[in-house]
Amino acid sequence: MTETYADIREAVARLCADFPGPYWQDKDRARAYPTEFVEALTKSGFLSVLIPEEFGGSGLPLSAAAAILEEIQRQGCNGGACHAQMYVMGTVLRHGSEAQKREWLPRVASGELRLQAFGVTEPTSGTDTLSLKTTAKRDGDAYVINGQKIWTSRAEHSDLMILLARTTPREEVAKRTDGLSVFIVDMREAVGNGLTIRPIETMMNHSTTEVFFDNLRVPAANLIGEEGQGFRYILSGMNAERLLIAAECVGDAKWFIEKASNYARERVLFGRPIGQNQGVQFPIARAYAQTRAADLLVAEGLRKYEAGENCGEEANIAKMLAAEASWAAGEACIQTHGGFGFAAEYDIERKFRETRLYQVAPISTNMILSYVAEHVLGLPRSY
Ligand SMILES: Cc1cc2nc3c(=O)[nH]c(=O)nc-3n(C[C@H](O)[C@H](O)[C@H](O)COP(=O)(O)OP(=O)(O)OC[C@H]3O[C@@H](n4cnc5c(N)ncnc54)[C@H](O)[C@@H]3O)c2cc1C
Repeated sequence: MTETYADIREAVARLCADFPGPYWQDKDRARAYPTEFVEALTKSGFLSVLIPEEFGGSGLPLSAAAAILEEIQRQGCNGGACHAQMYVMGTVLRHGSEAQKREWLPRVASGELRLQAFGVTEPTSGTDTLSLKTTAKRDGDAYVINGQKIWTSRAEHSDLMILLARTTPREEVAKRTDGLSVFIVDMREAVGNGLTIRPIETMMNHSTTEVFFDNLRVPAANLIGEEGQGFRYILSGMNAERLLIAAECVGDAKWFIEKASNYARERVLFGRPIGQNQGVQFPIARAYAQTRAADLLVAEGLRKYEAGENCGEEANIAKMLAAEASWAAGEACIQTHGGFGFAAEYDIERKFRETRLYQVAPISTNMILSYVAEHVLGLPRSY
């Protein structure tokens, strides 16, 4: 069994208590970034738990990060504002040079720099990452970047971006997974010098953007690992990312279930609590059952990840089940609250909108099913 981190959860819950519903409602209304919340998390060291101690973090395993993110969601807050730092940082940690780690990680750990942006998805290629069109061409001691990314979340609130771009044309690579490279882009210097960020309005407050590169020069020293191997580096972080997002969904589901159960016990109609009606109980109980299943698979995925075993199956299935469980729990919660479920002051409609994302991003349910079909069940590759 992996550690459950009761102390960490308690500390996160205490921190979250300073950011109650009205804080998130205001941010949601204004579509504003929850800077104060992210700063509080950073100051408390929660966002840098995965960074090794030698680089200023606390060097804890992935399950600690999962506990933190789950607890944030469980308390009604939104880790979507800052969760990326936890898994994006892993690209630098696993594949960066010693010099790059020394240059960036201590400042990320201290909060001096935010590493919250991850530029992979493009408008034309979407999930088909190997078809991405953004190019990086070597020119002296720099790479010149041209192209566009979409859904680059938090770009306006991040100093650094991990960027995936094509360094060798697709027609010229031996293997279809070759030819892409990962860069760390210092956006403080880049904005206005070849980098333009344009916010995208979405159904929830997610600070997502589209990003345009027009002859942006990135020092060659910012290439992570080997040129042409970037796709593998990004893939290597995906299990961790999926497990963390799954933990967030479990947290959302627990929040919805608690809220729905409390209300079902308290709301009295026709002379009895509405929760006495099985029509009200069952959707909540079903969502609870789904959440337990997802939670167990998250734990198993984390256990395997930390044991250095391949956890692709668990990470993918956990992410899918957890996203479905949080959605089912959200649906039950809204229905249980009747009209009040739609009132912003109850936070349910906000959380409902927020948790819907995870059936699409960072990977959509179909792609997970496709992974299970092909890699677990041995069915023919479909695309
Ligand atoms: C709010 C938000 C934040 C995001 N943040 C980031 C970020 O920070 N960085 C980043 O790089 N990306 C980010 N994304 C992008 C996200 O990862 C993608 O939206 C997601 O991977 C799906 O890609 P797409 O939107 O291009 O859909 P598409 O790839 O166009 O797919 C559309 C639909 O078709 C289905 N589909 C496609 N191909 C197949 C197939 N072969 N078989 C079955 N079904 C298929 C998909 O499952 C999906 O339902 C974000 C997205 C959103 C909405």
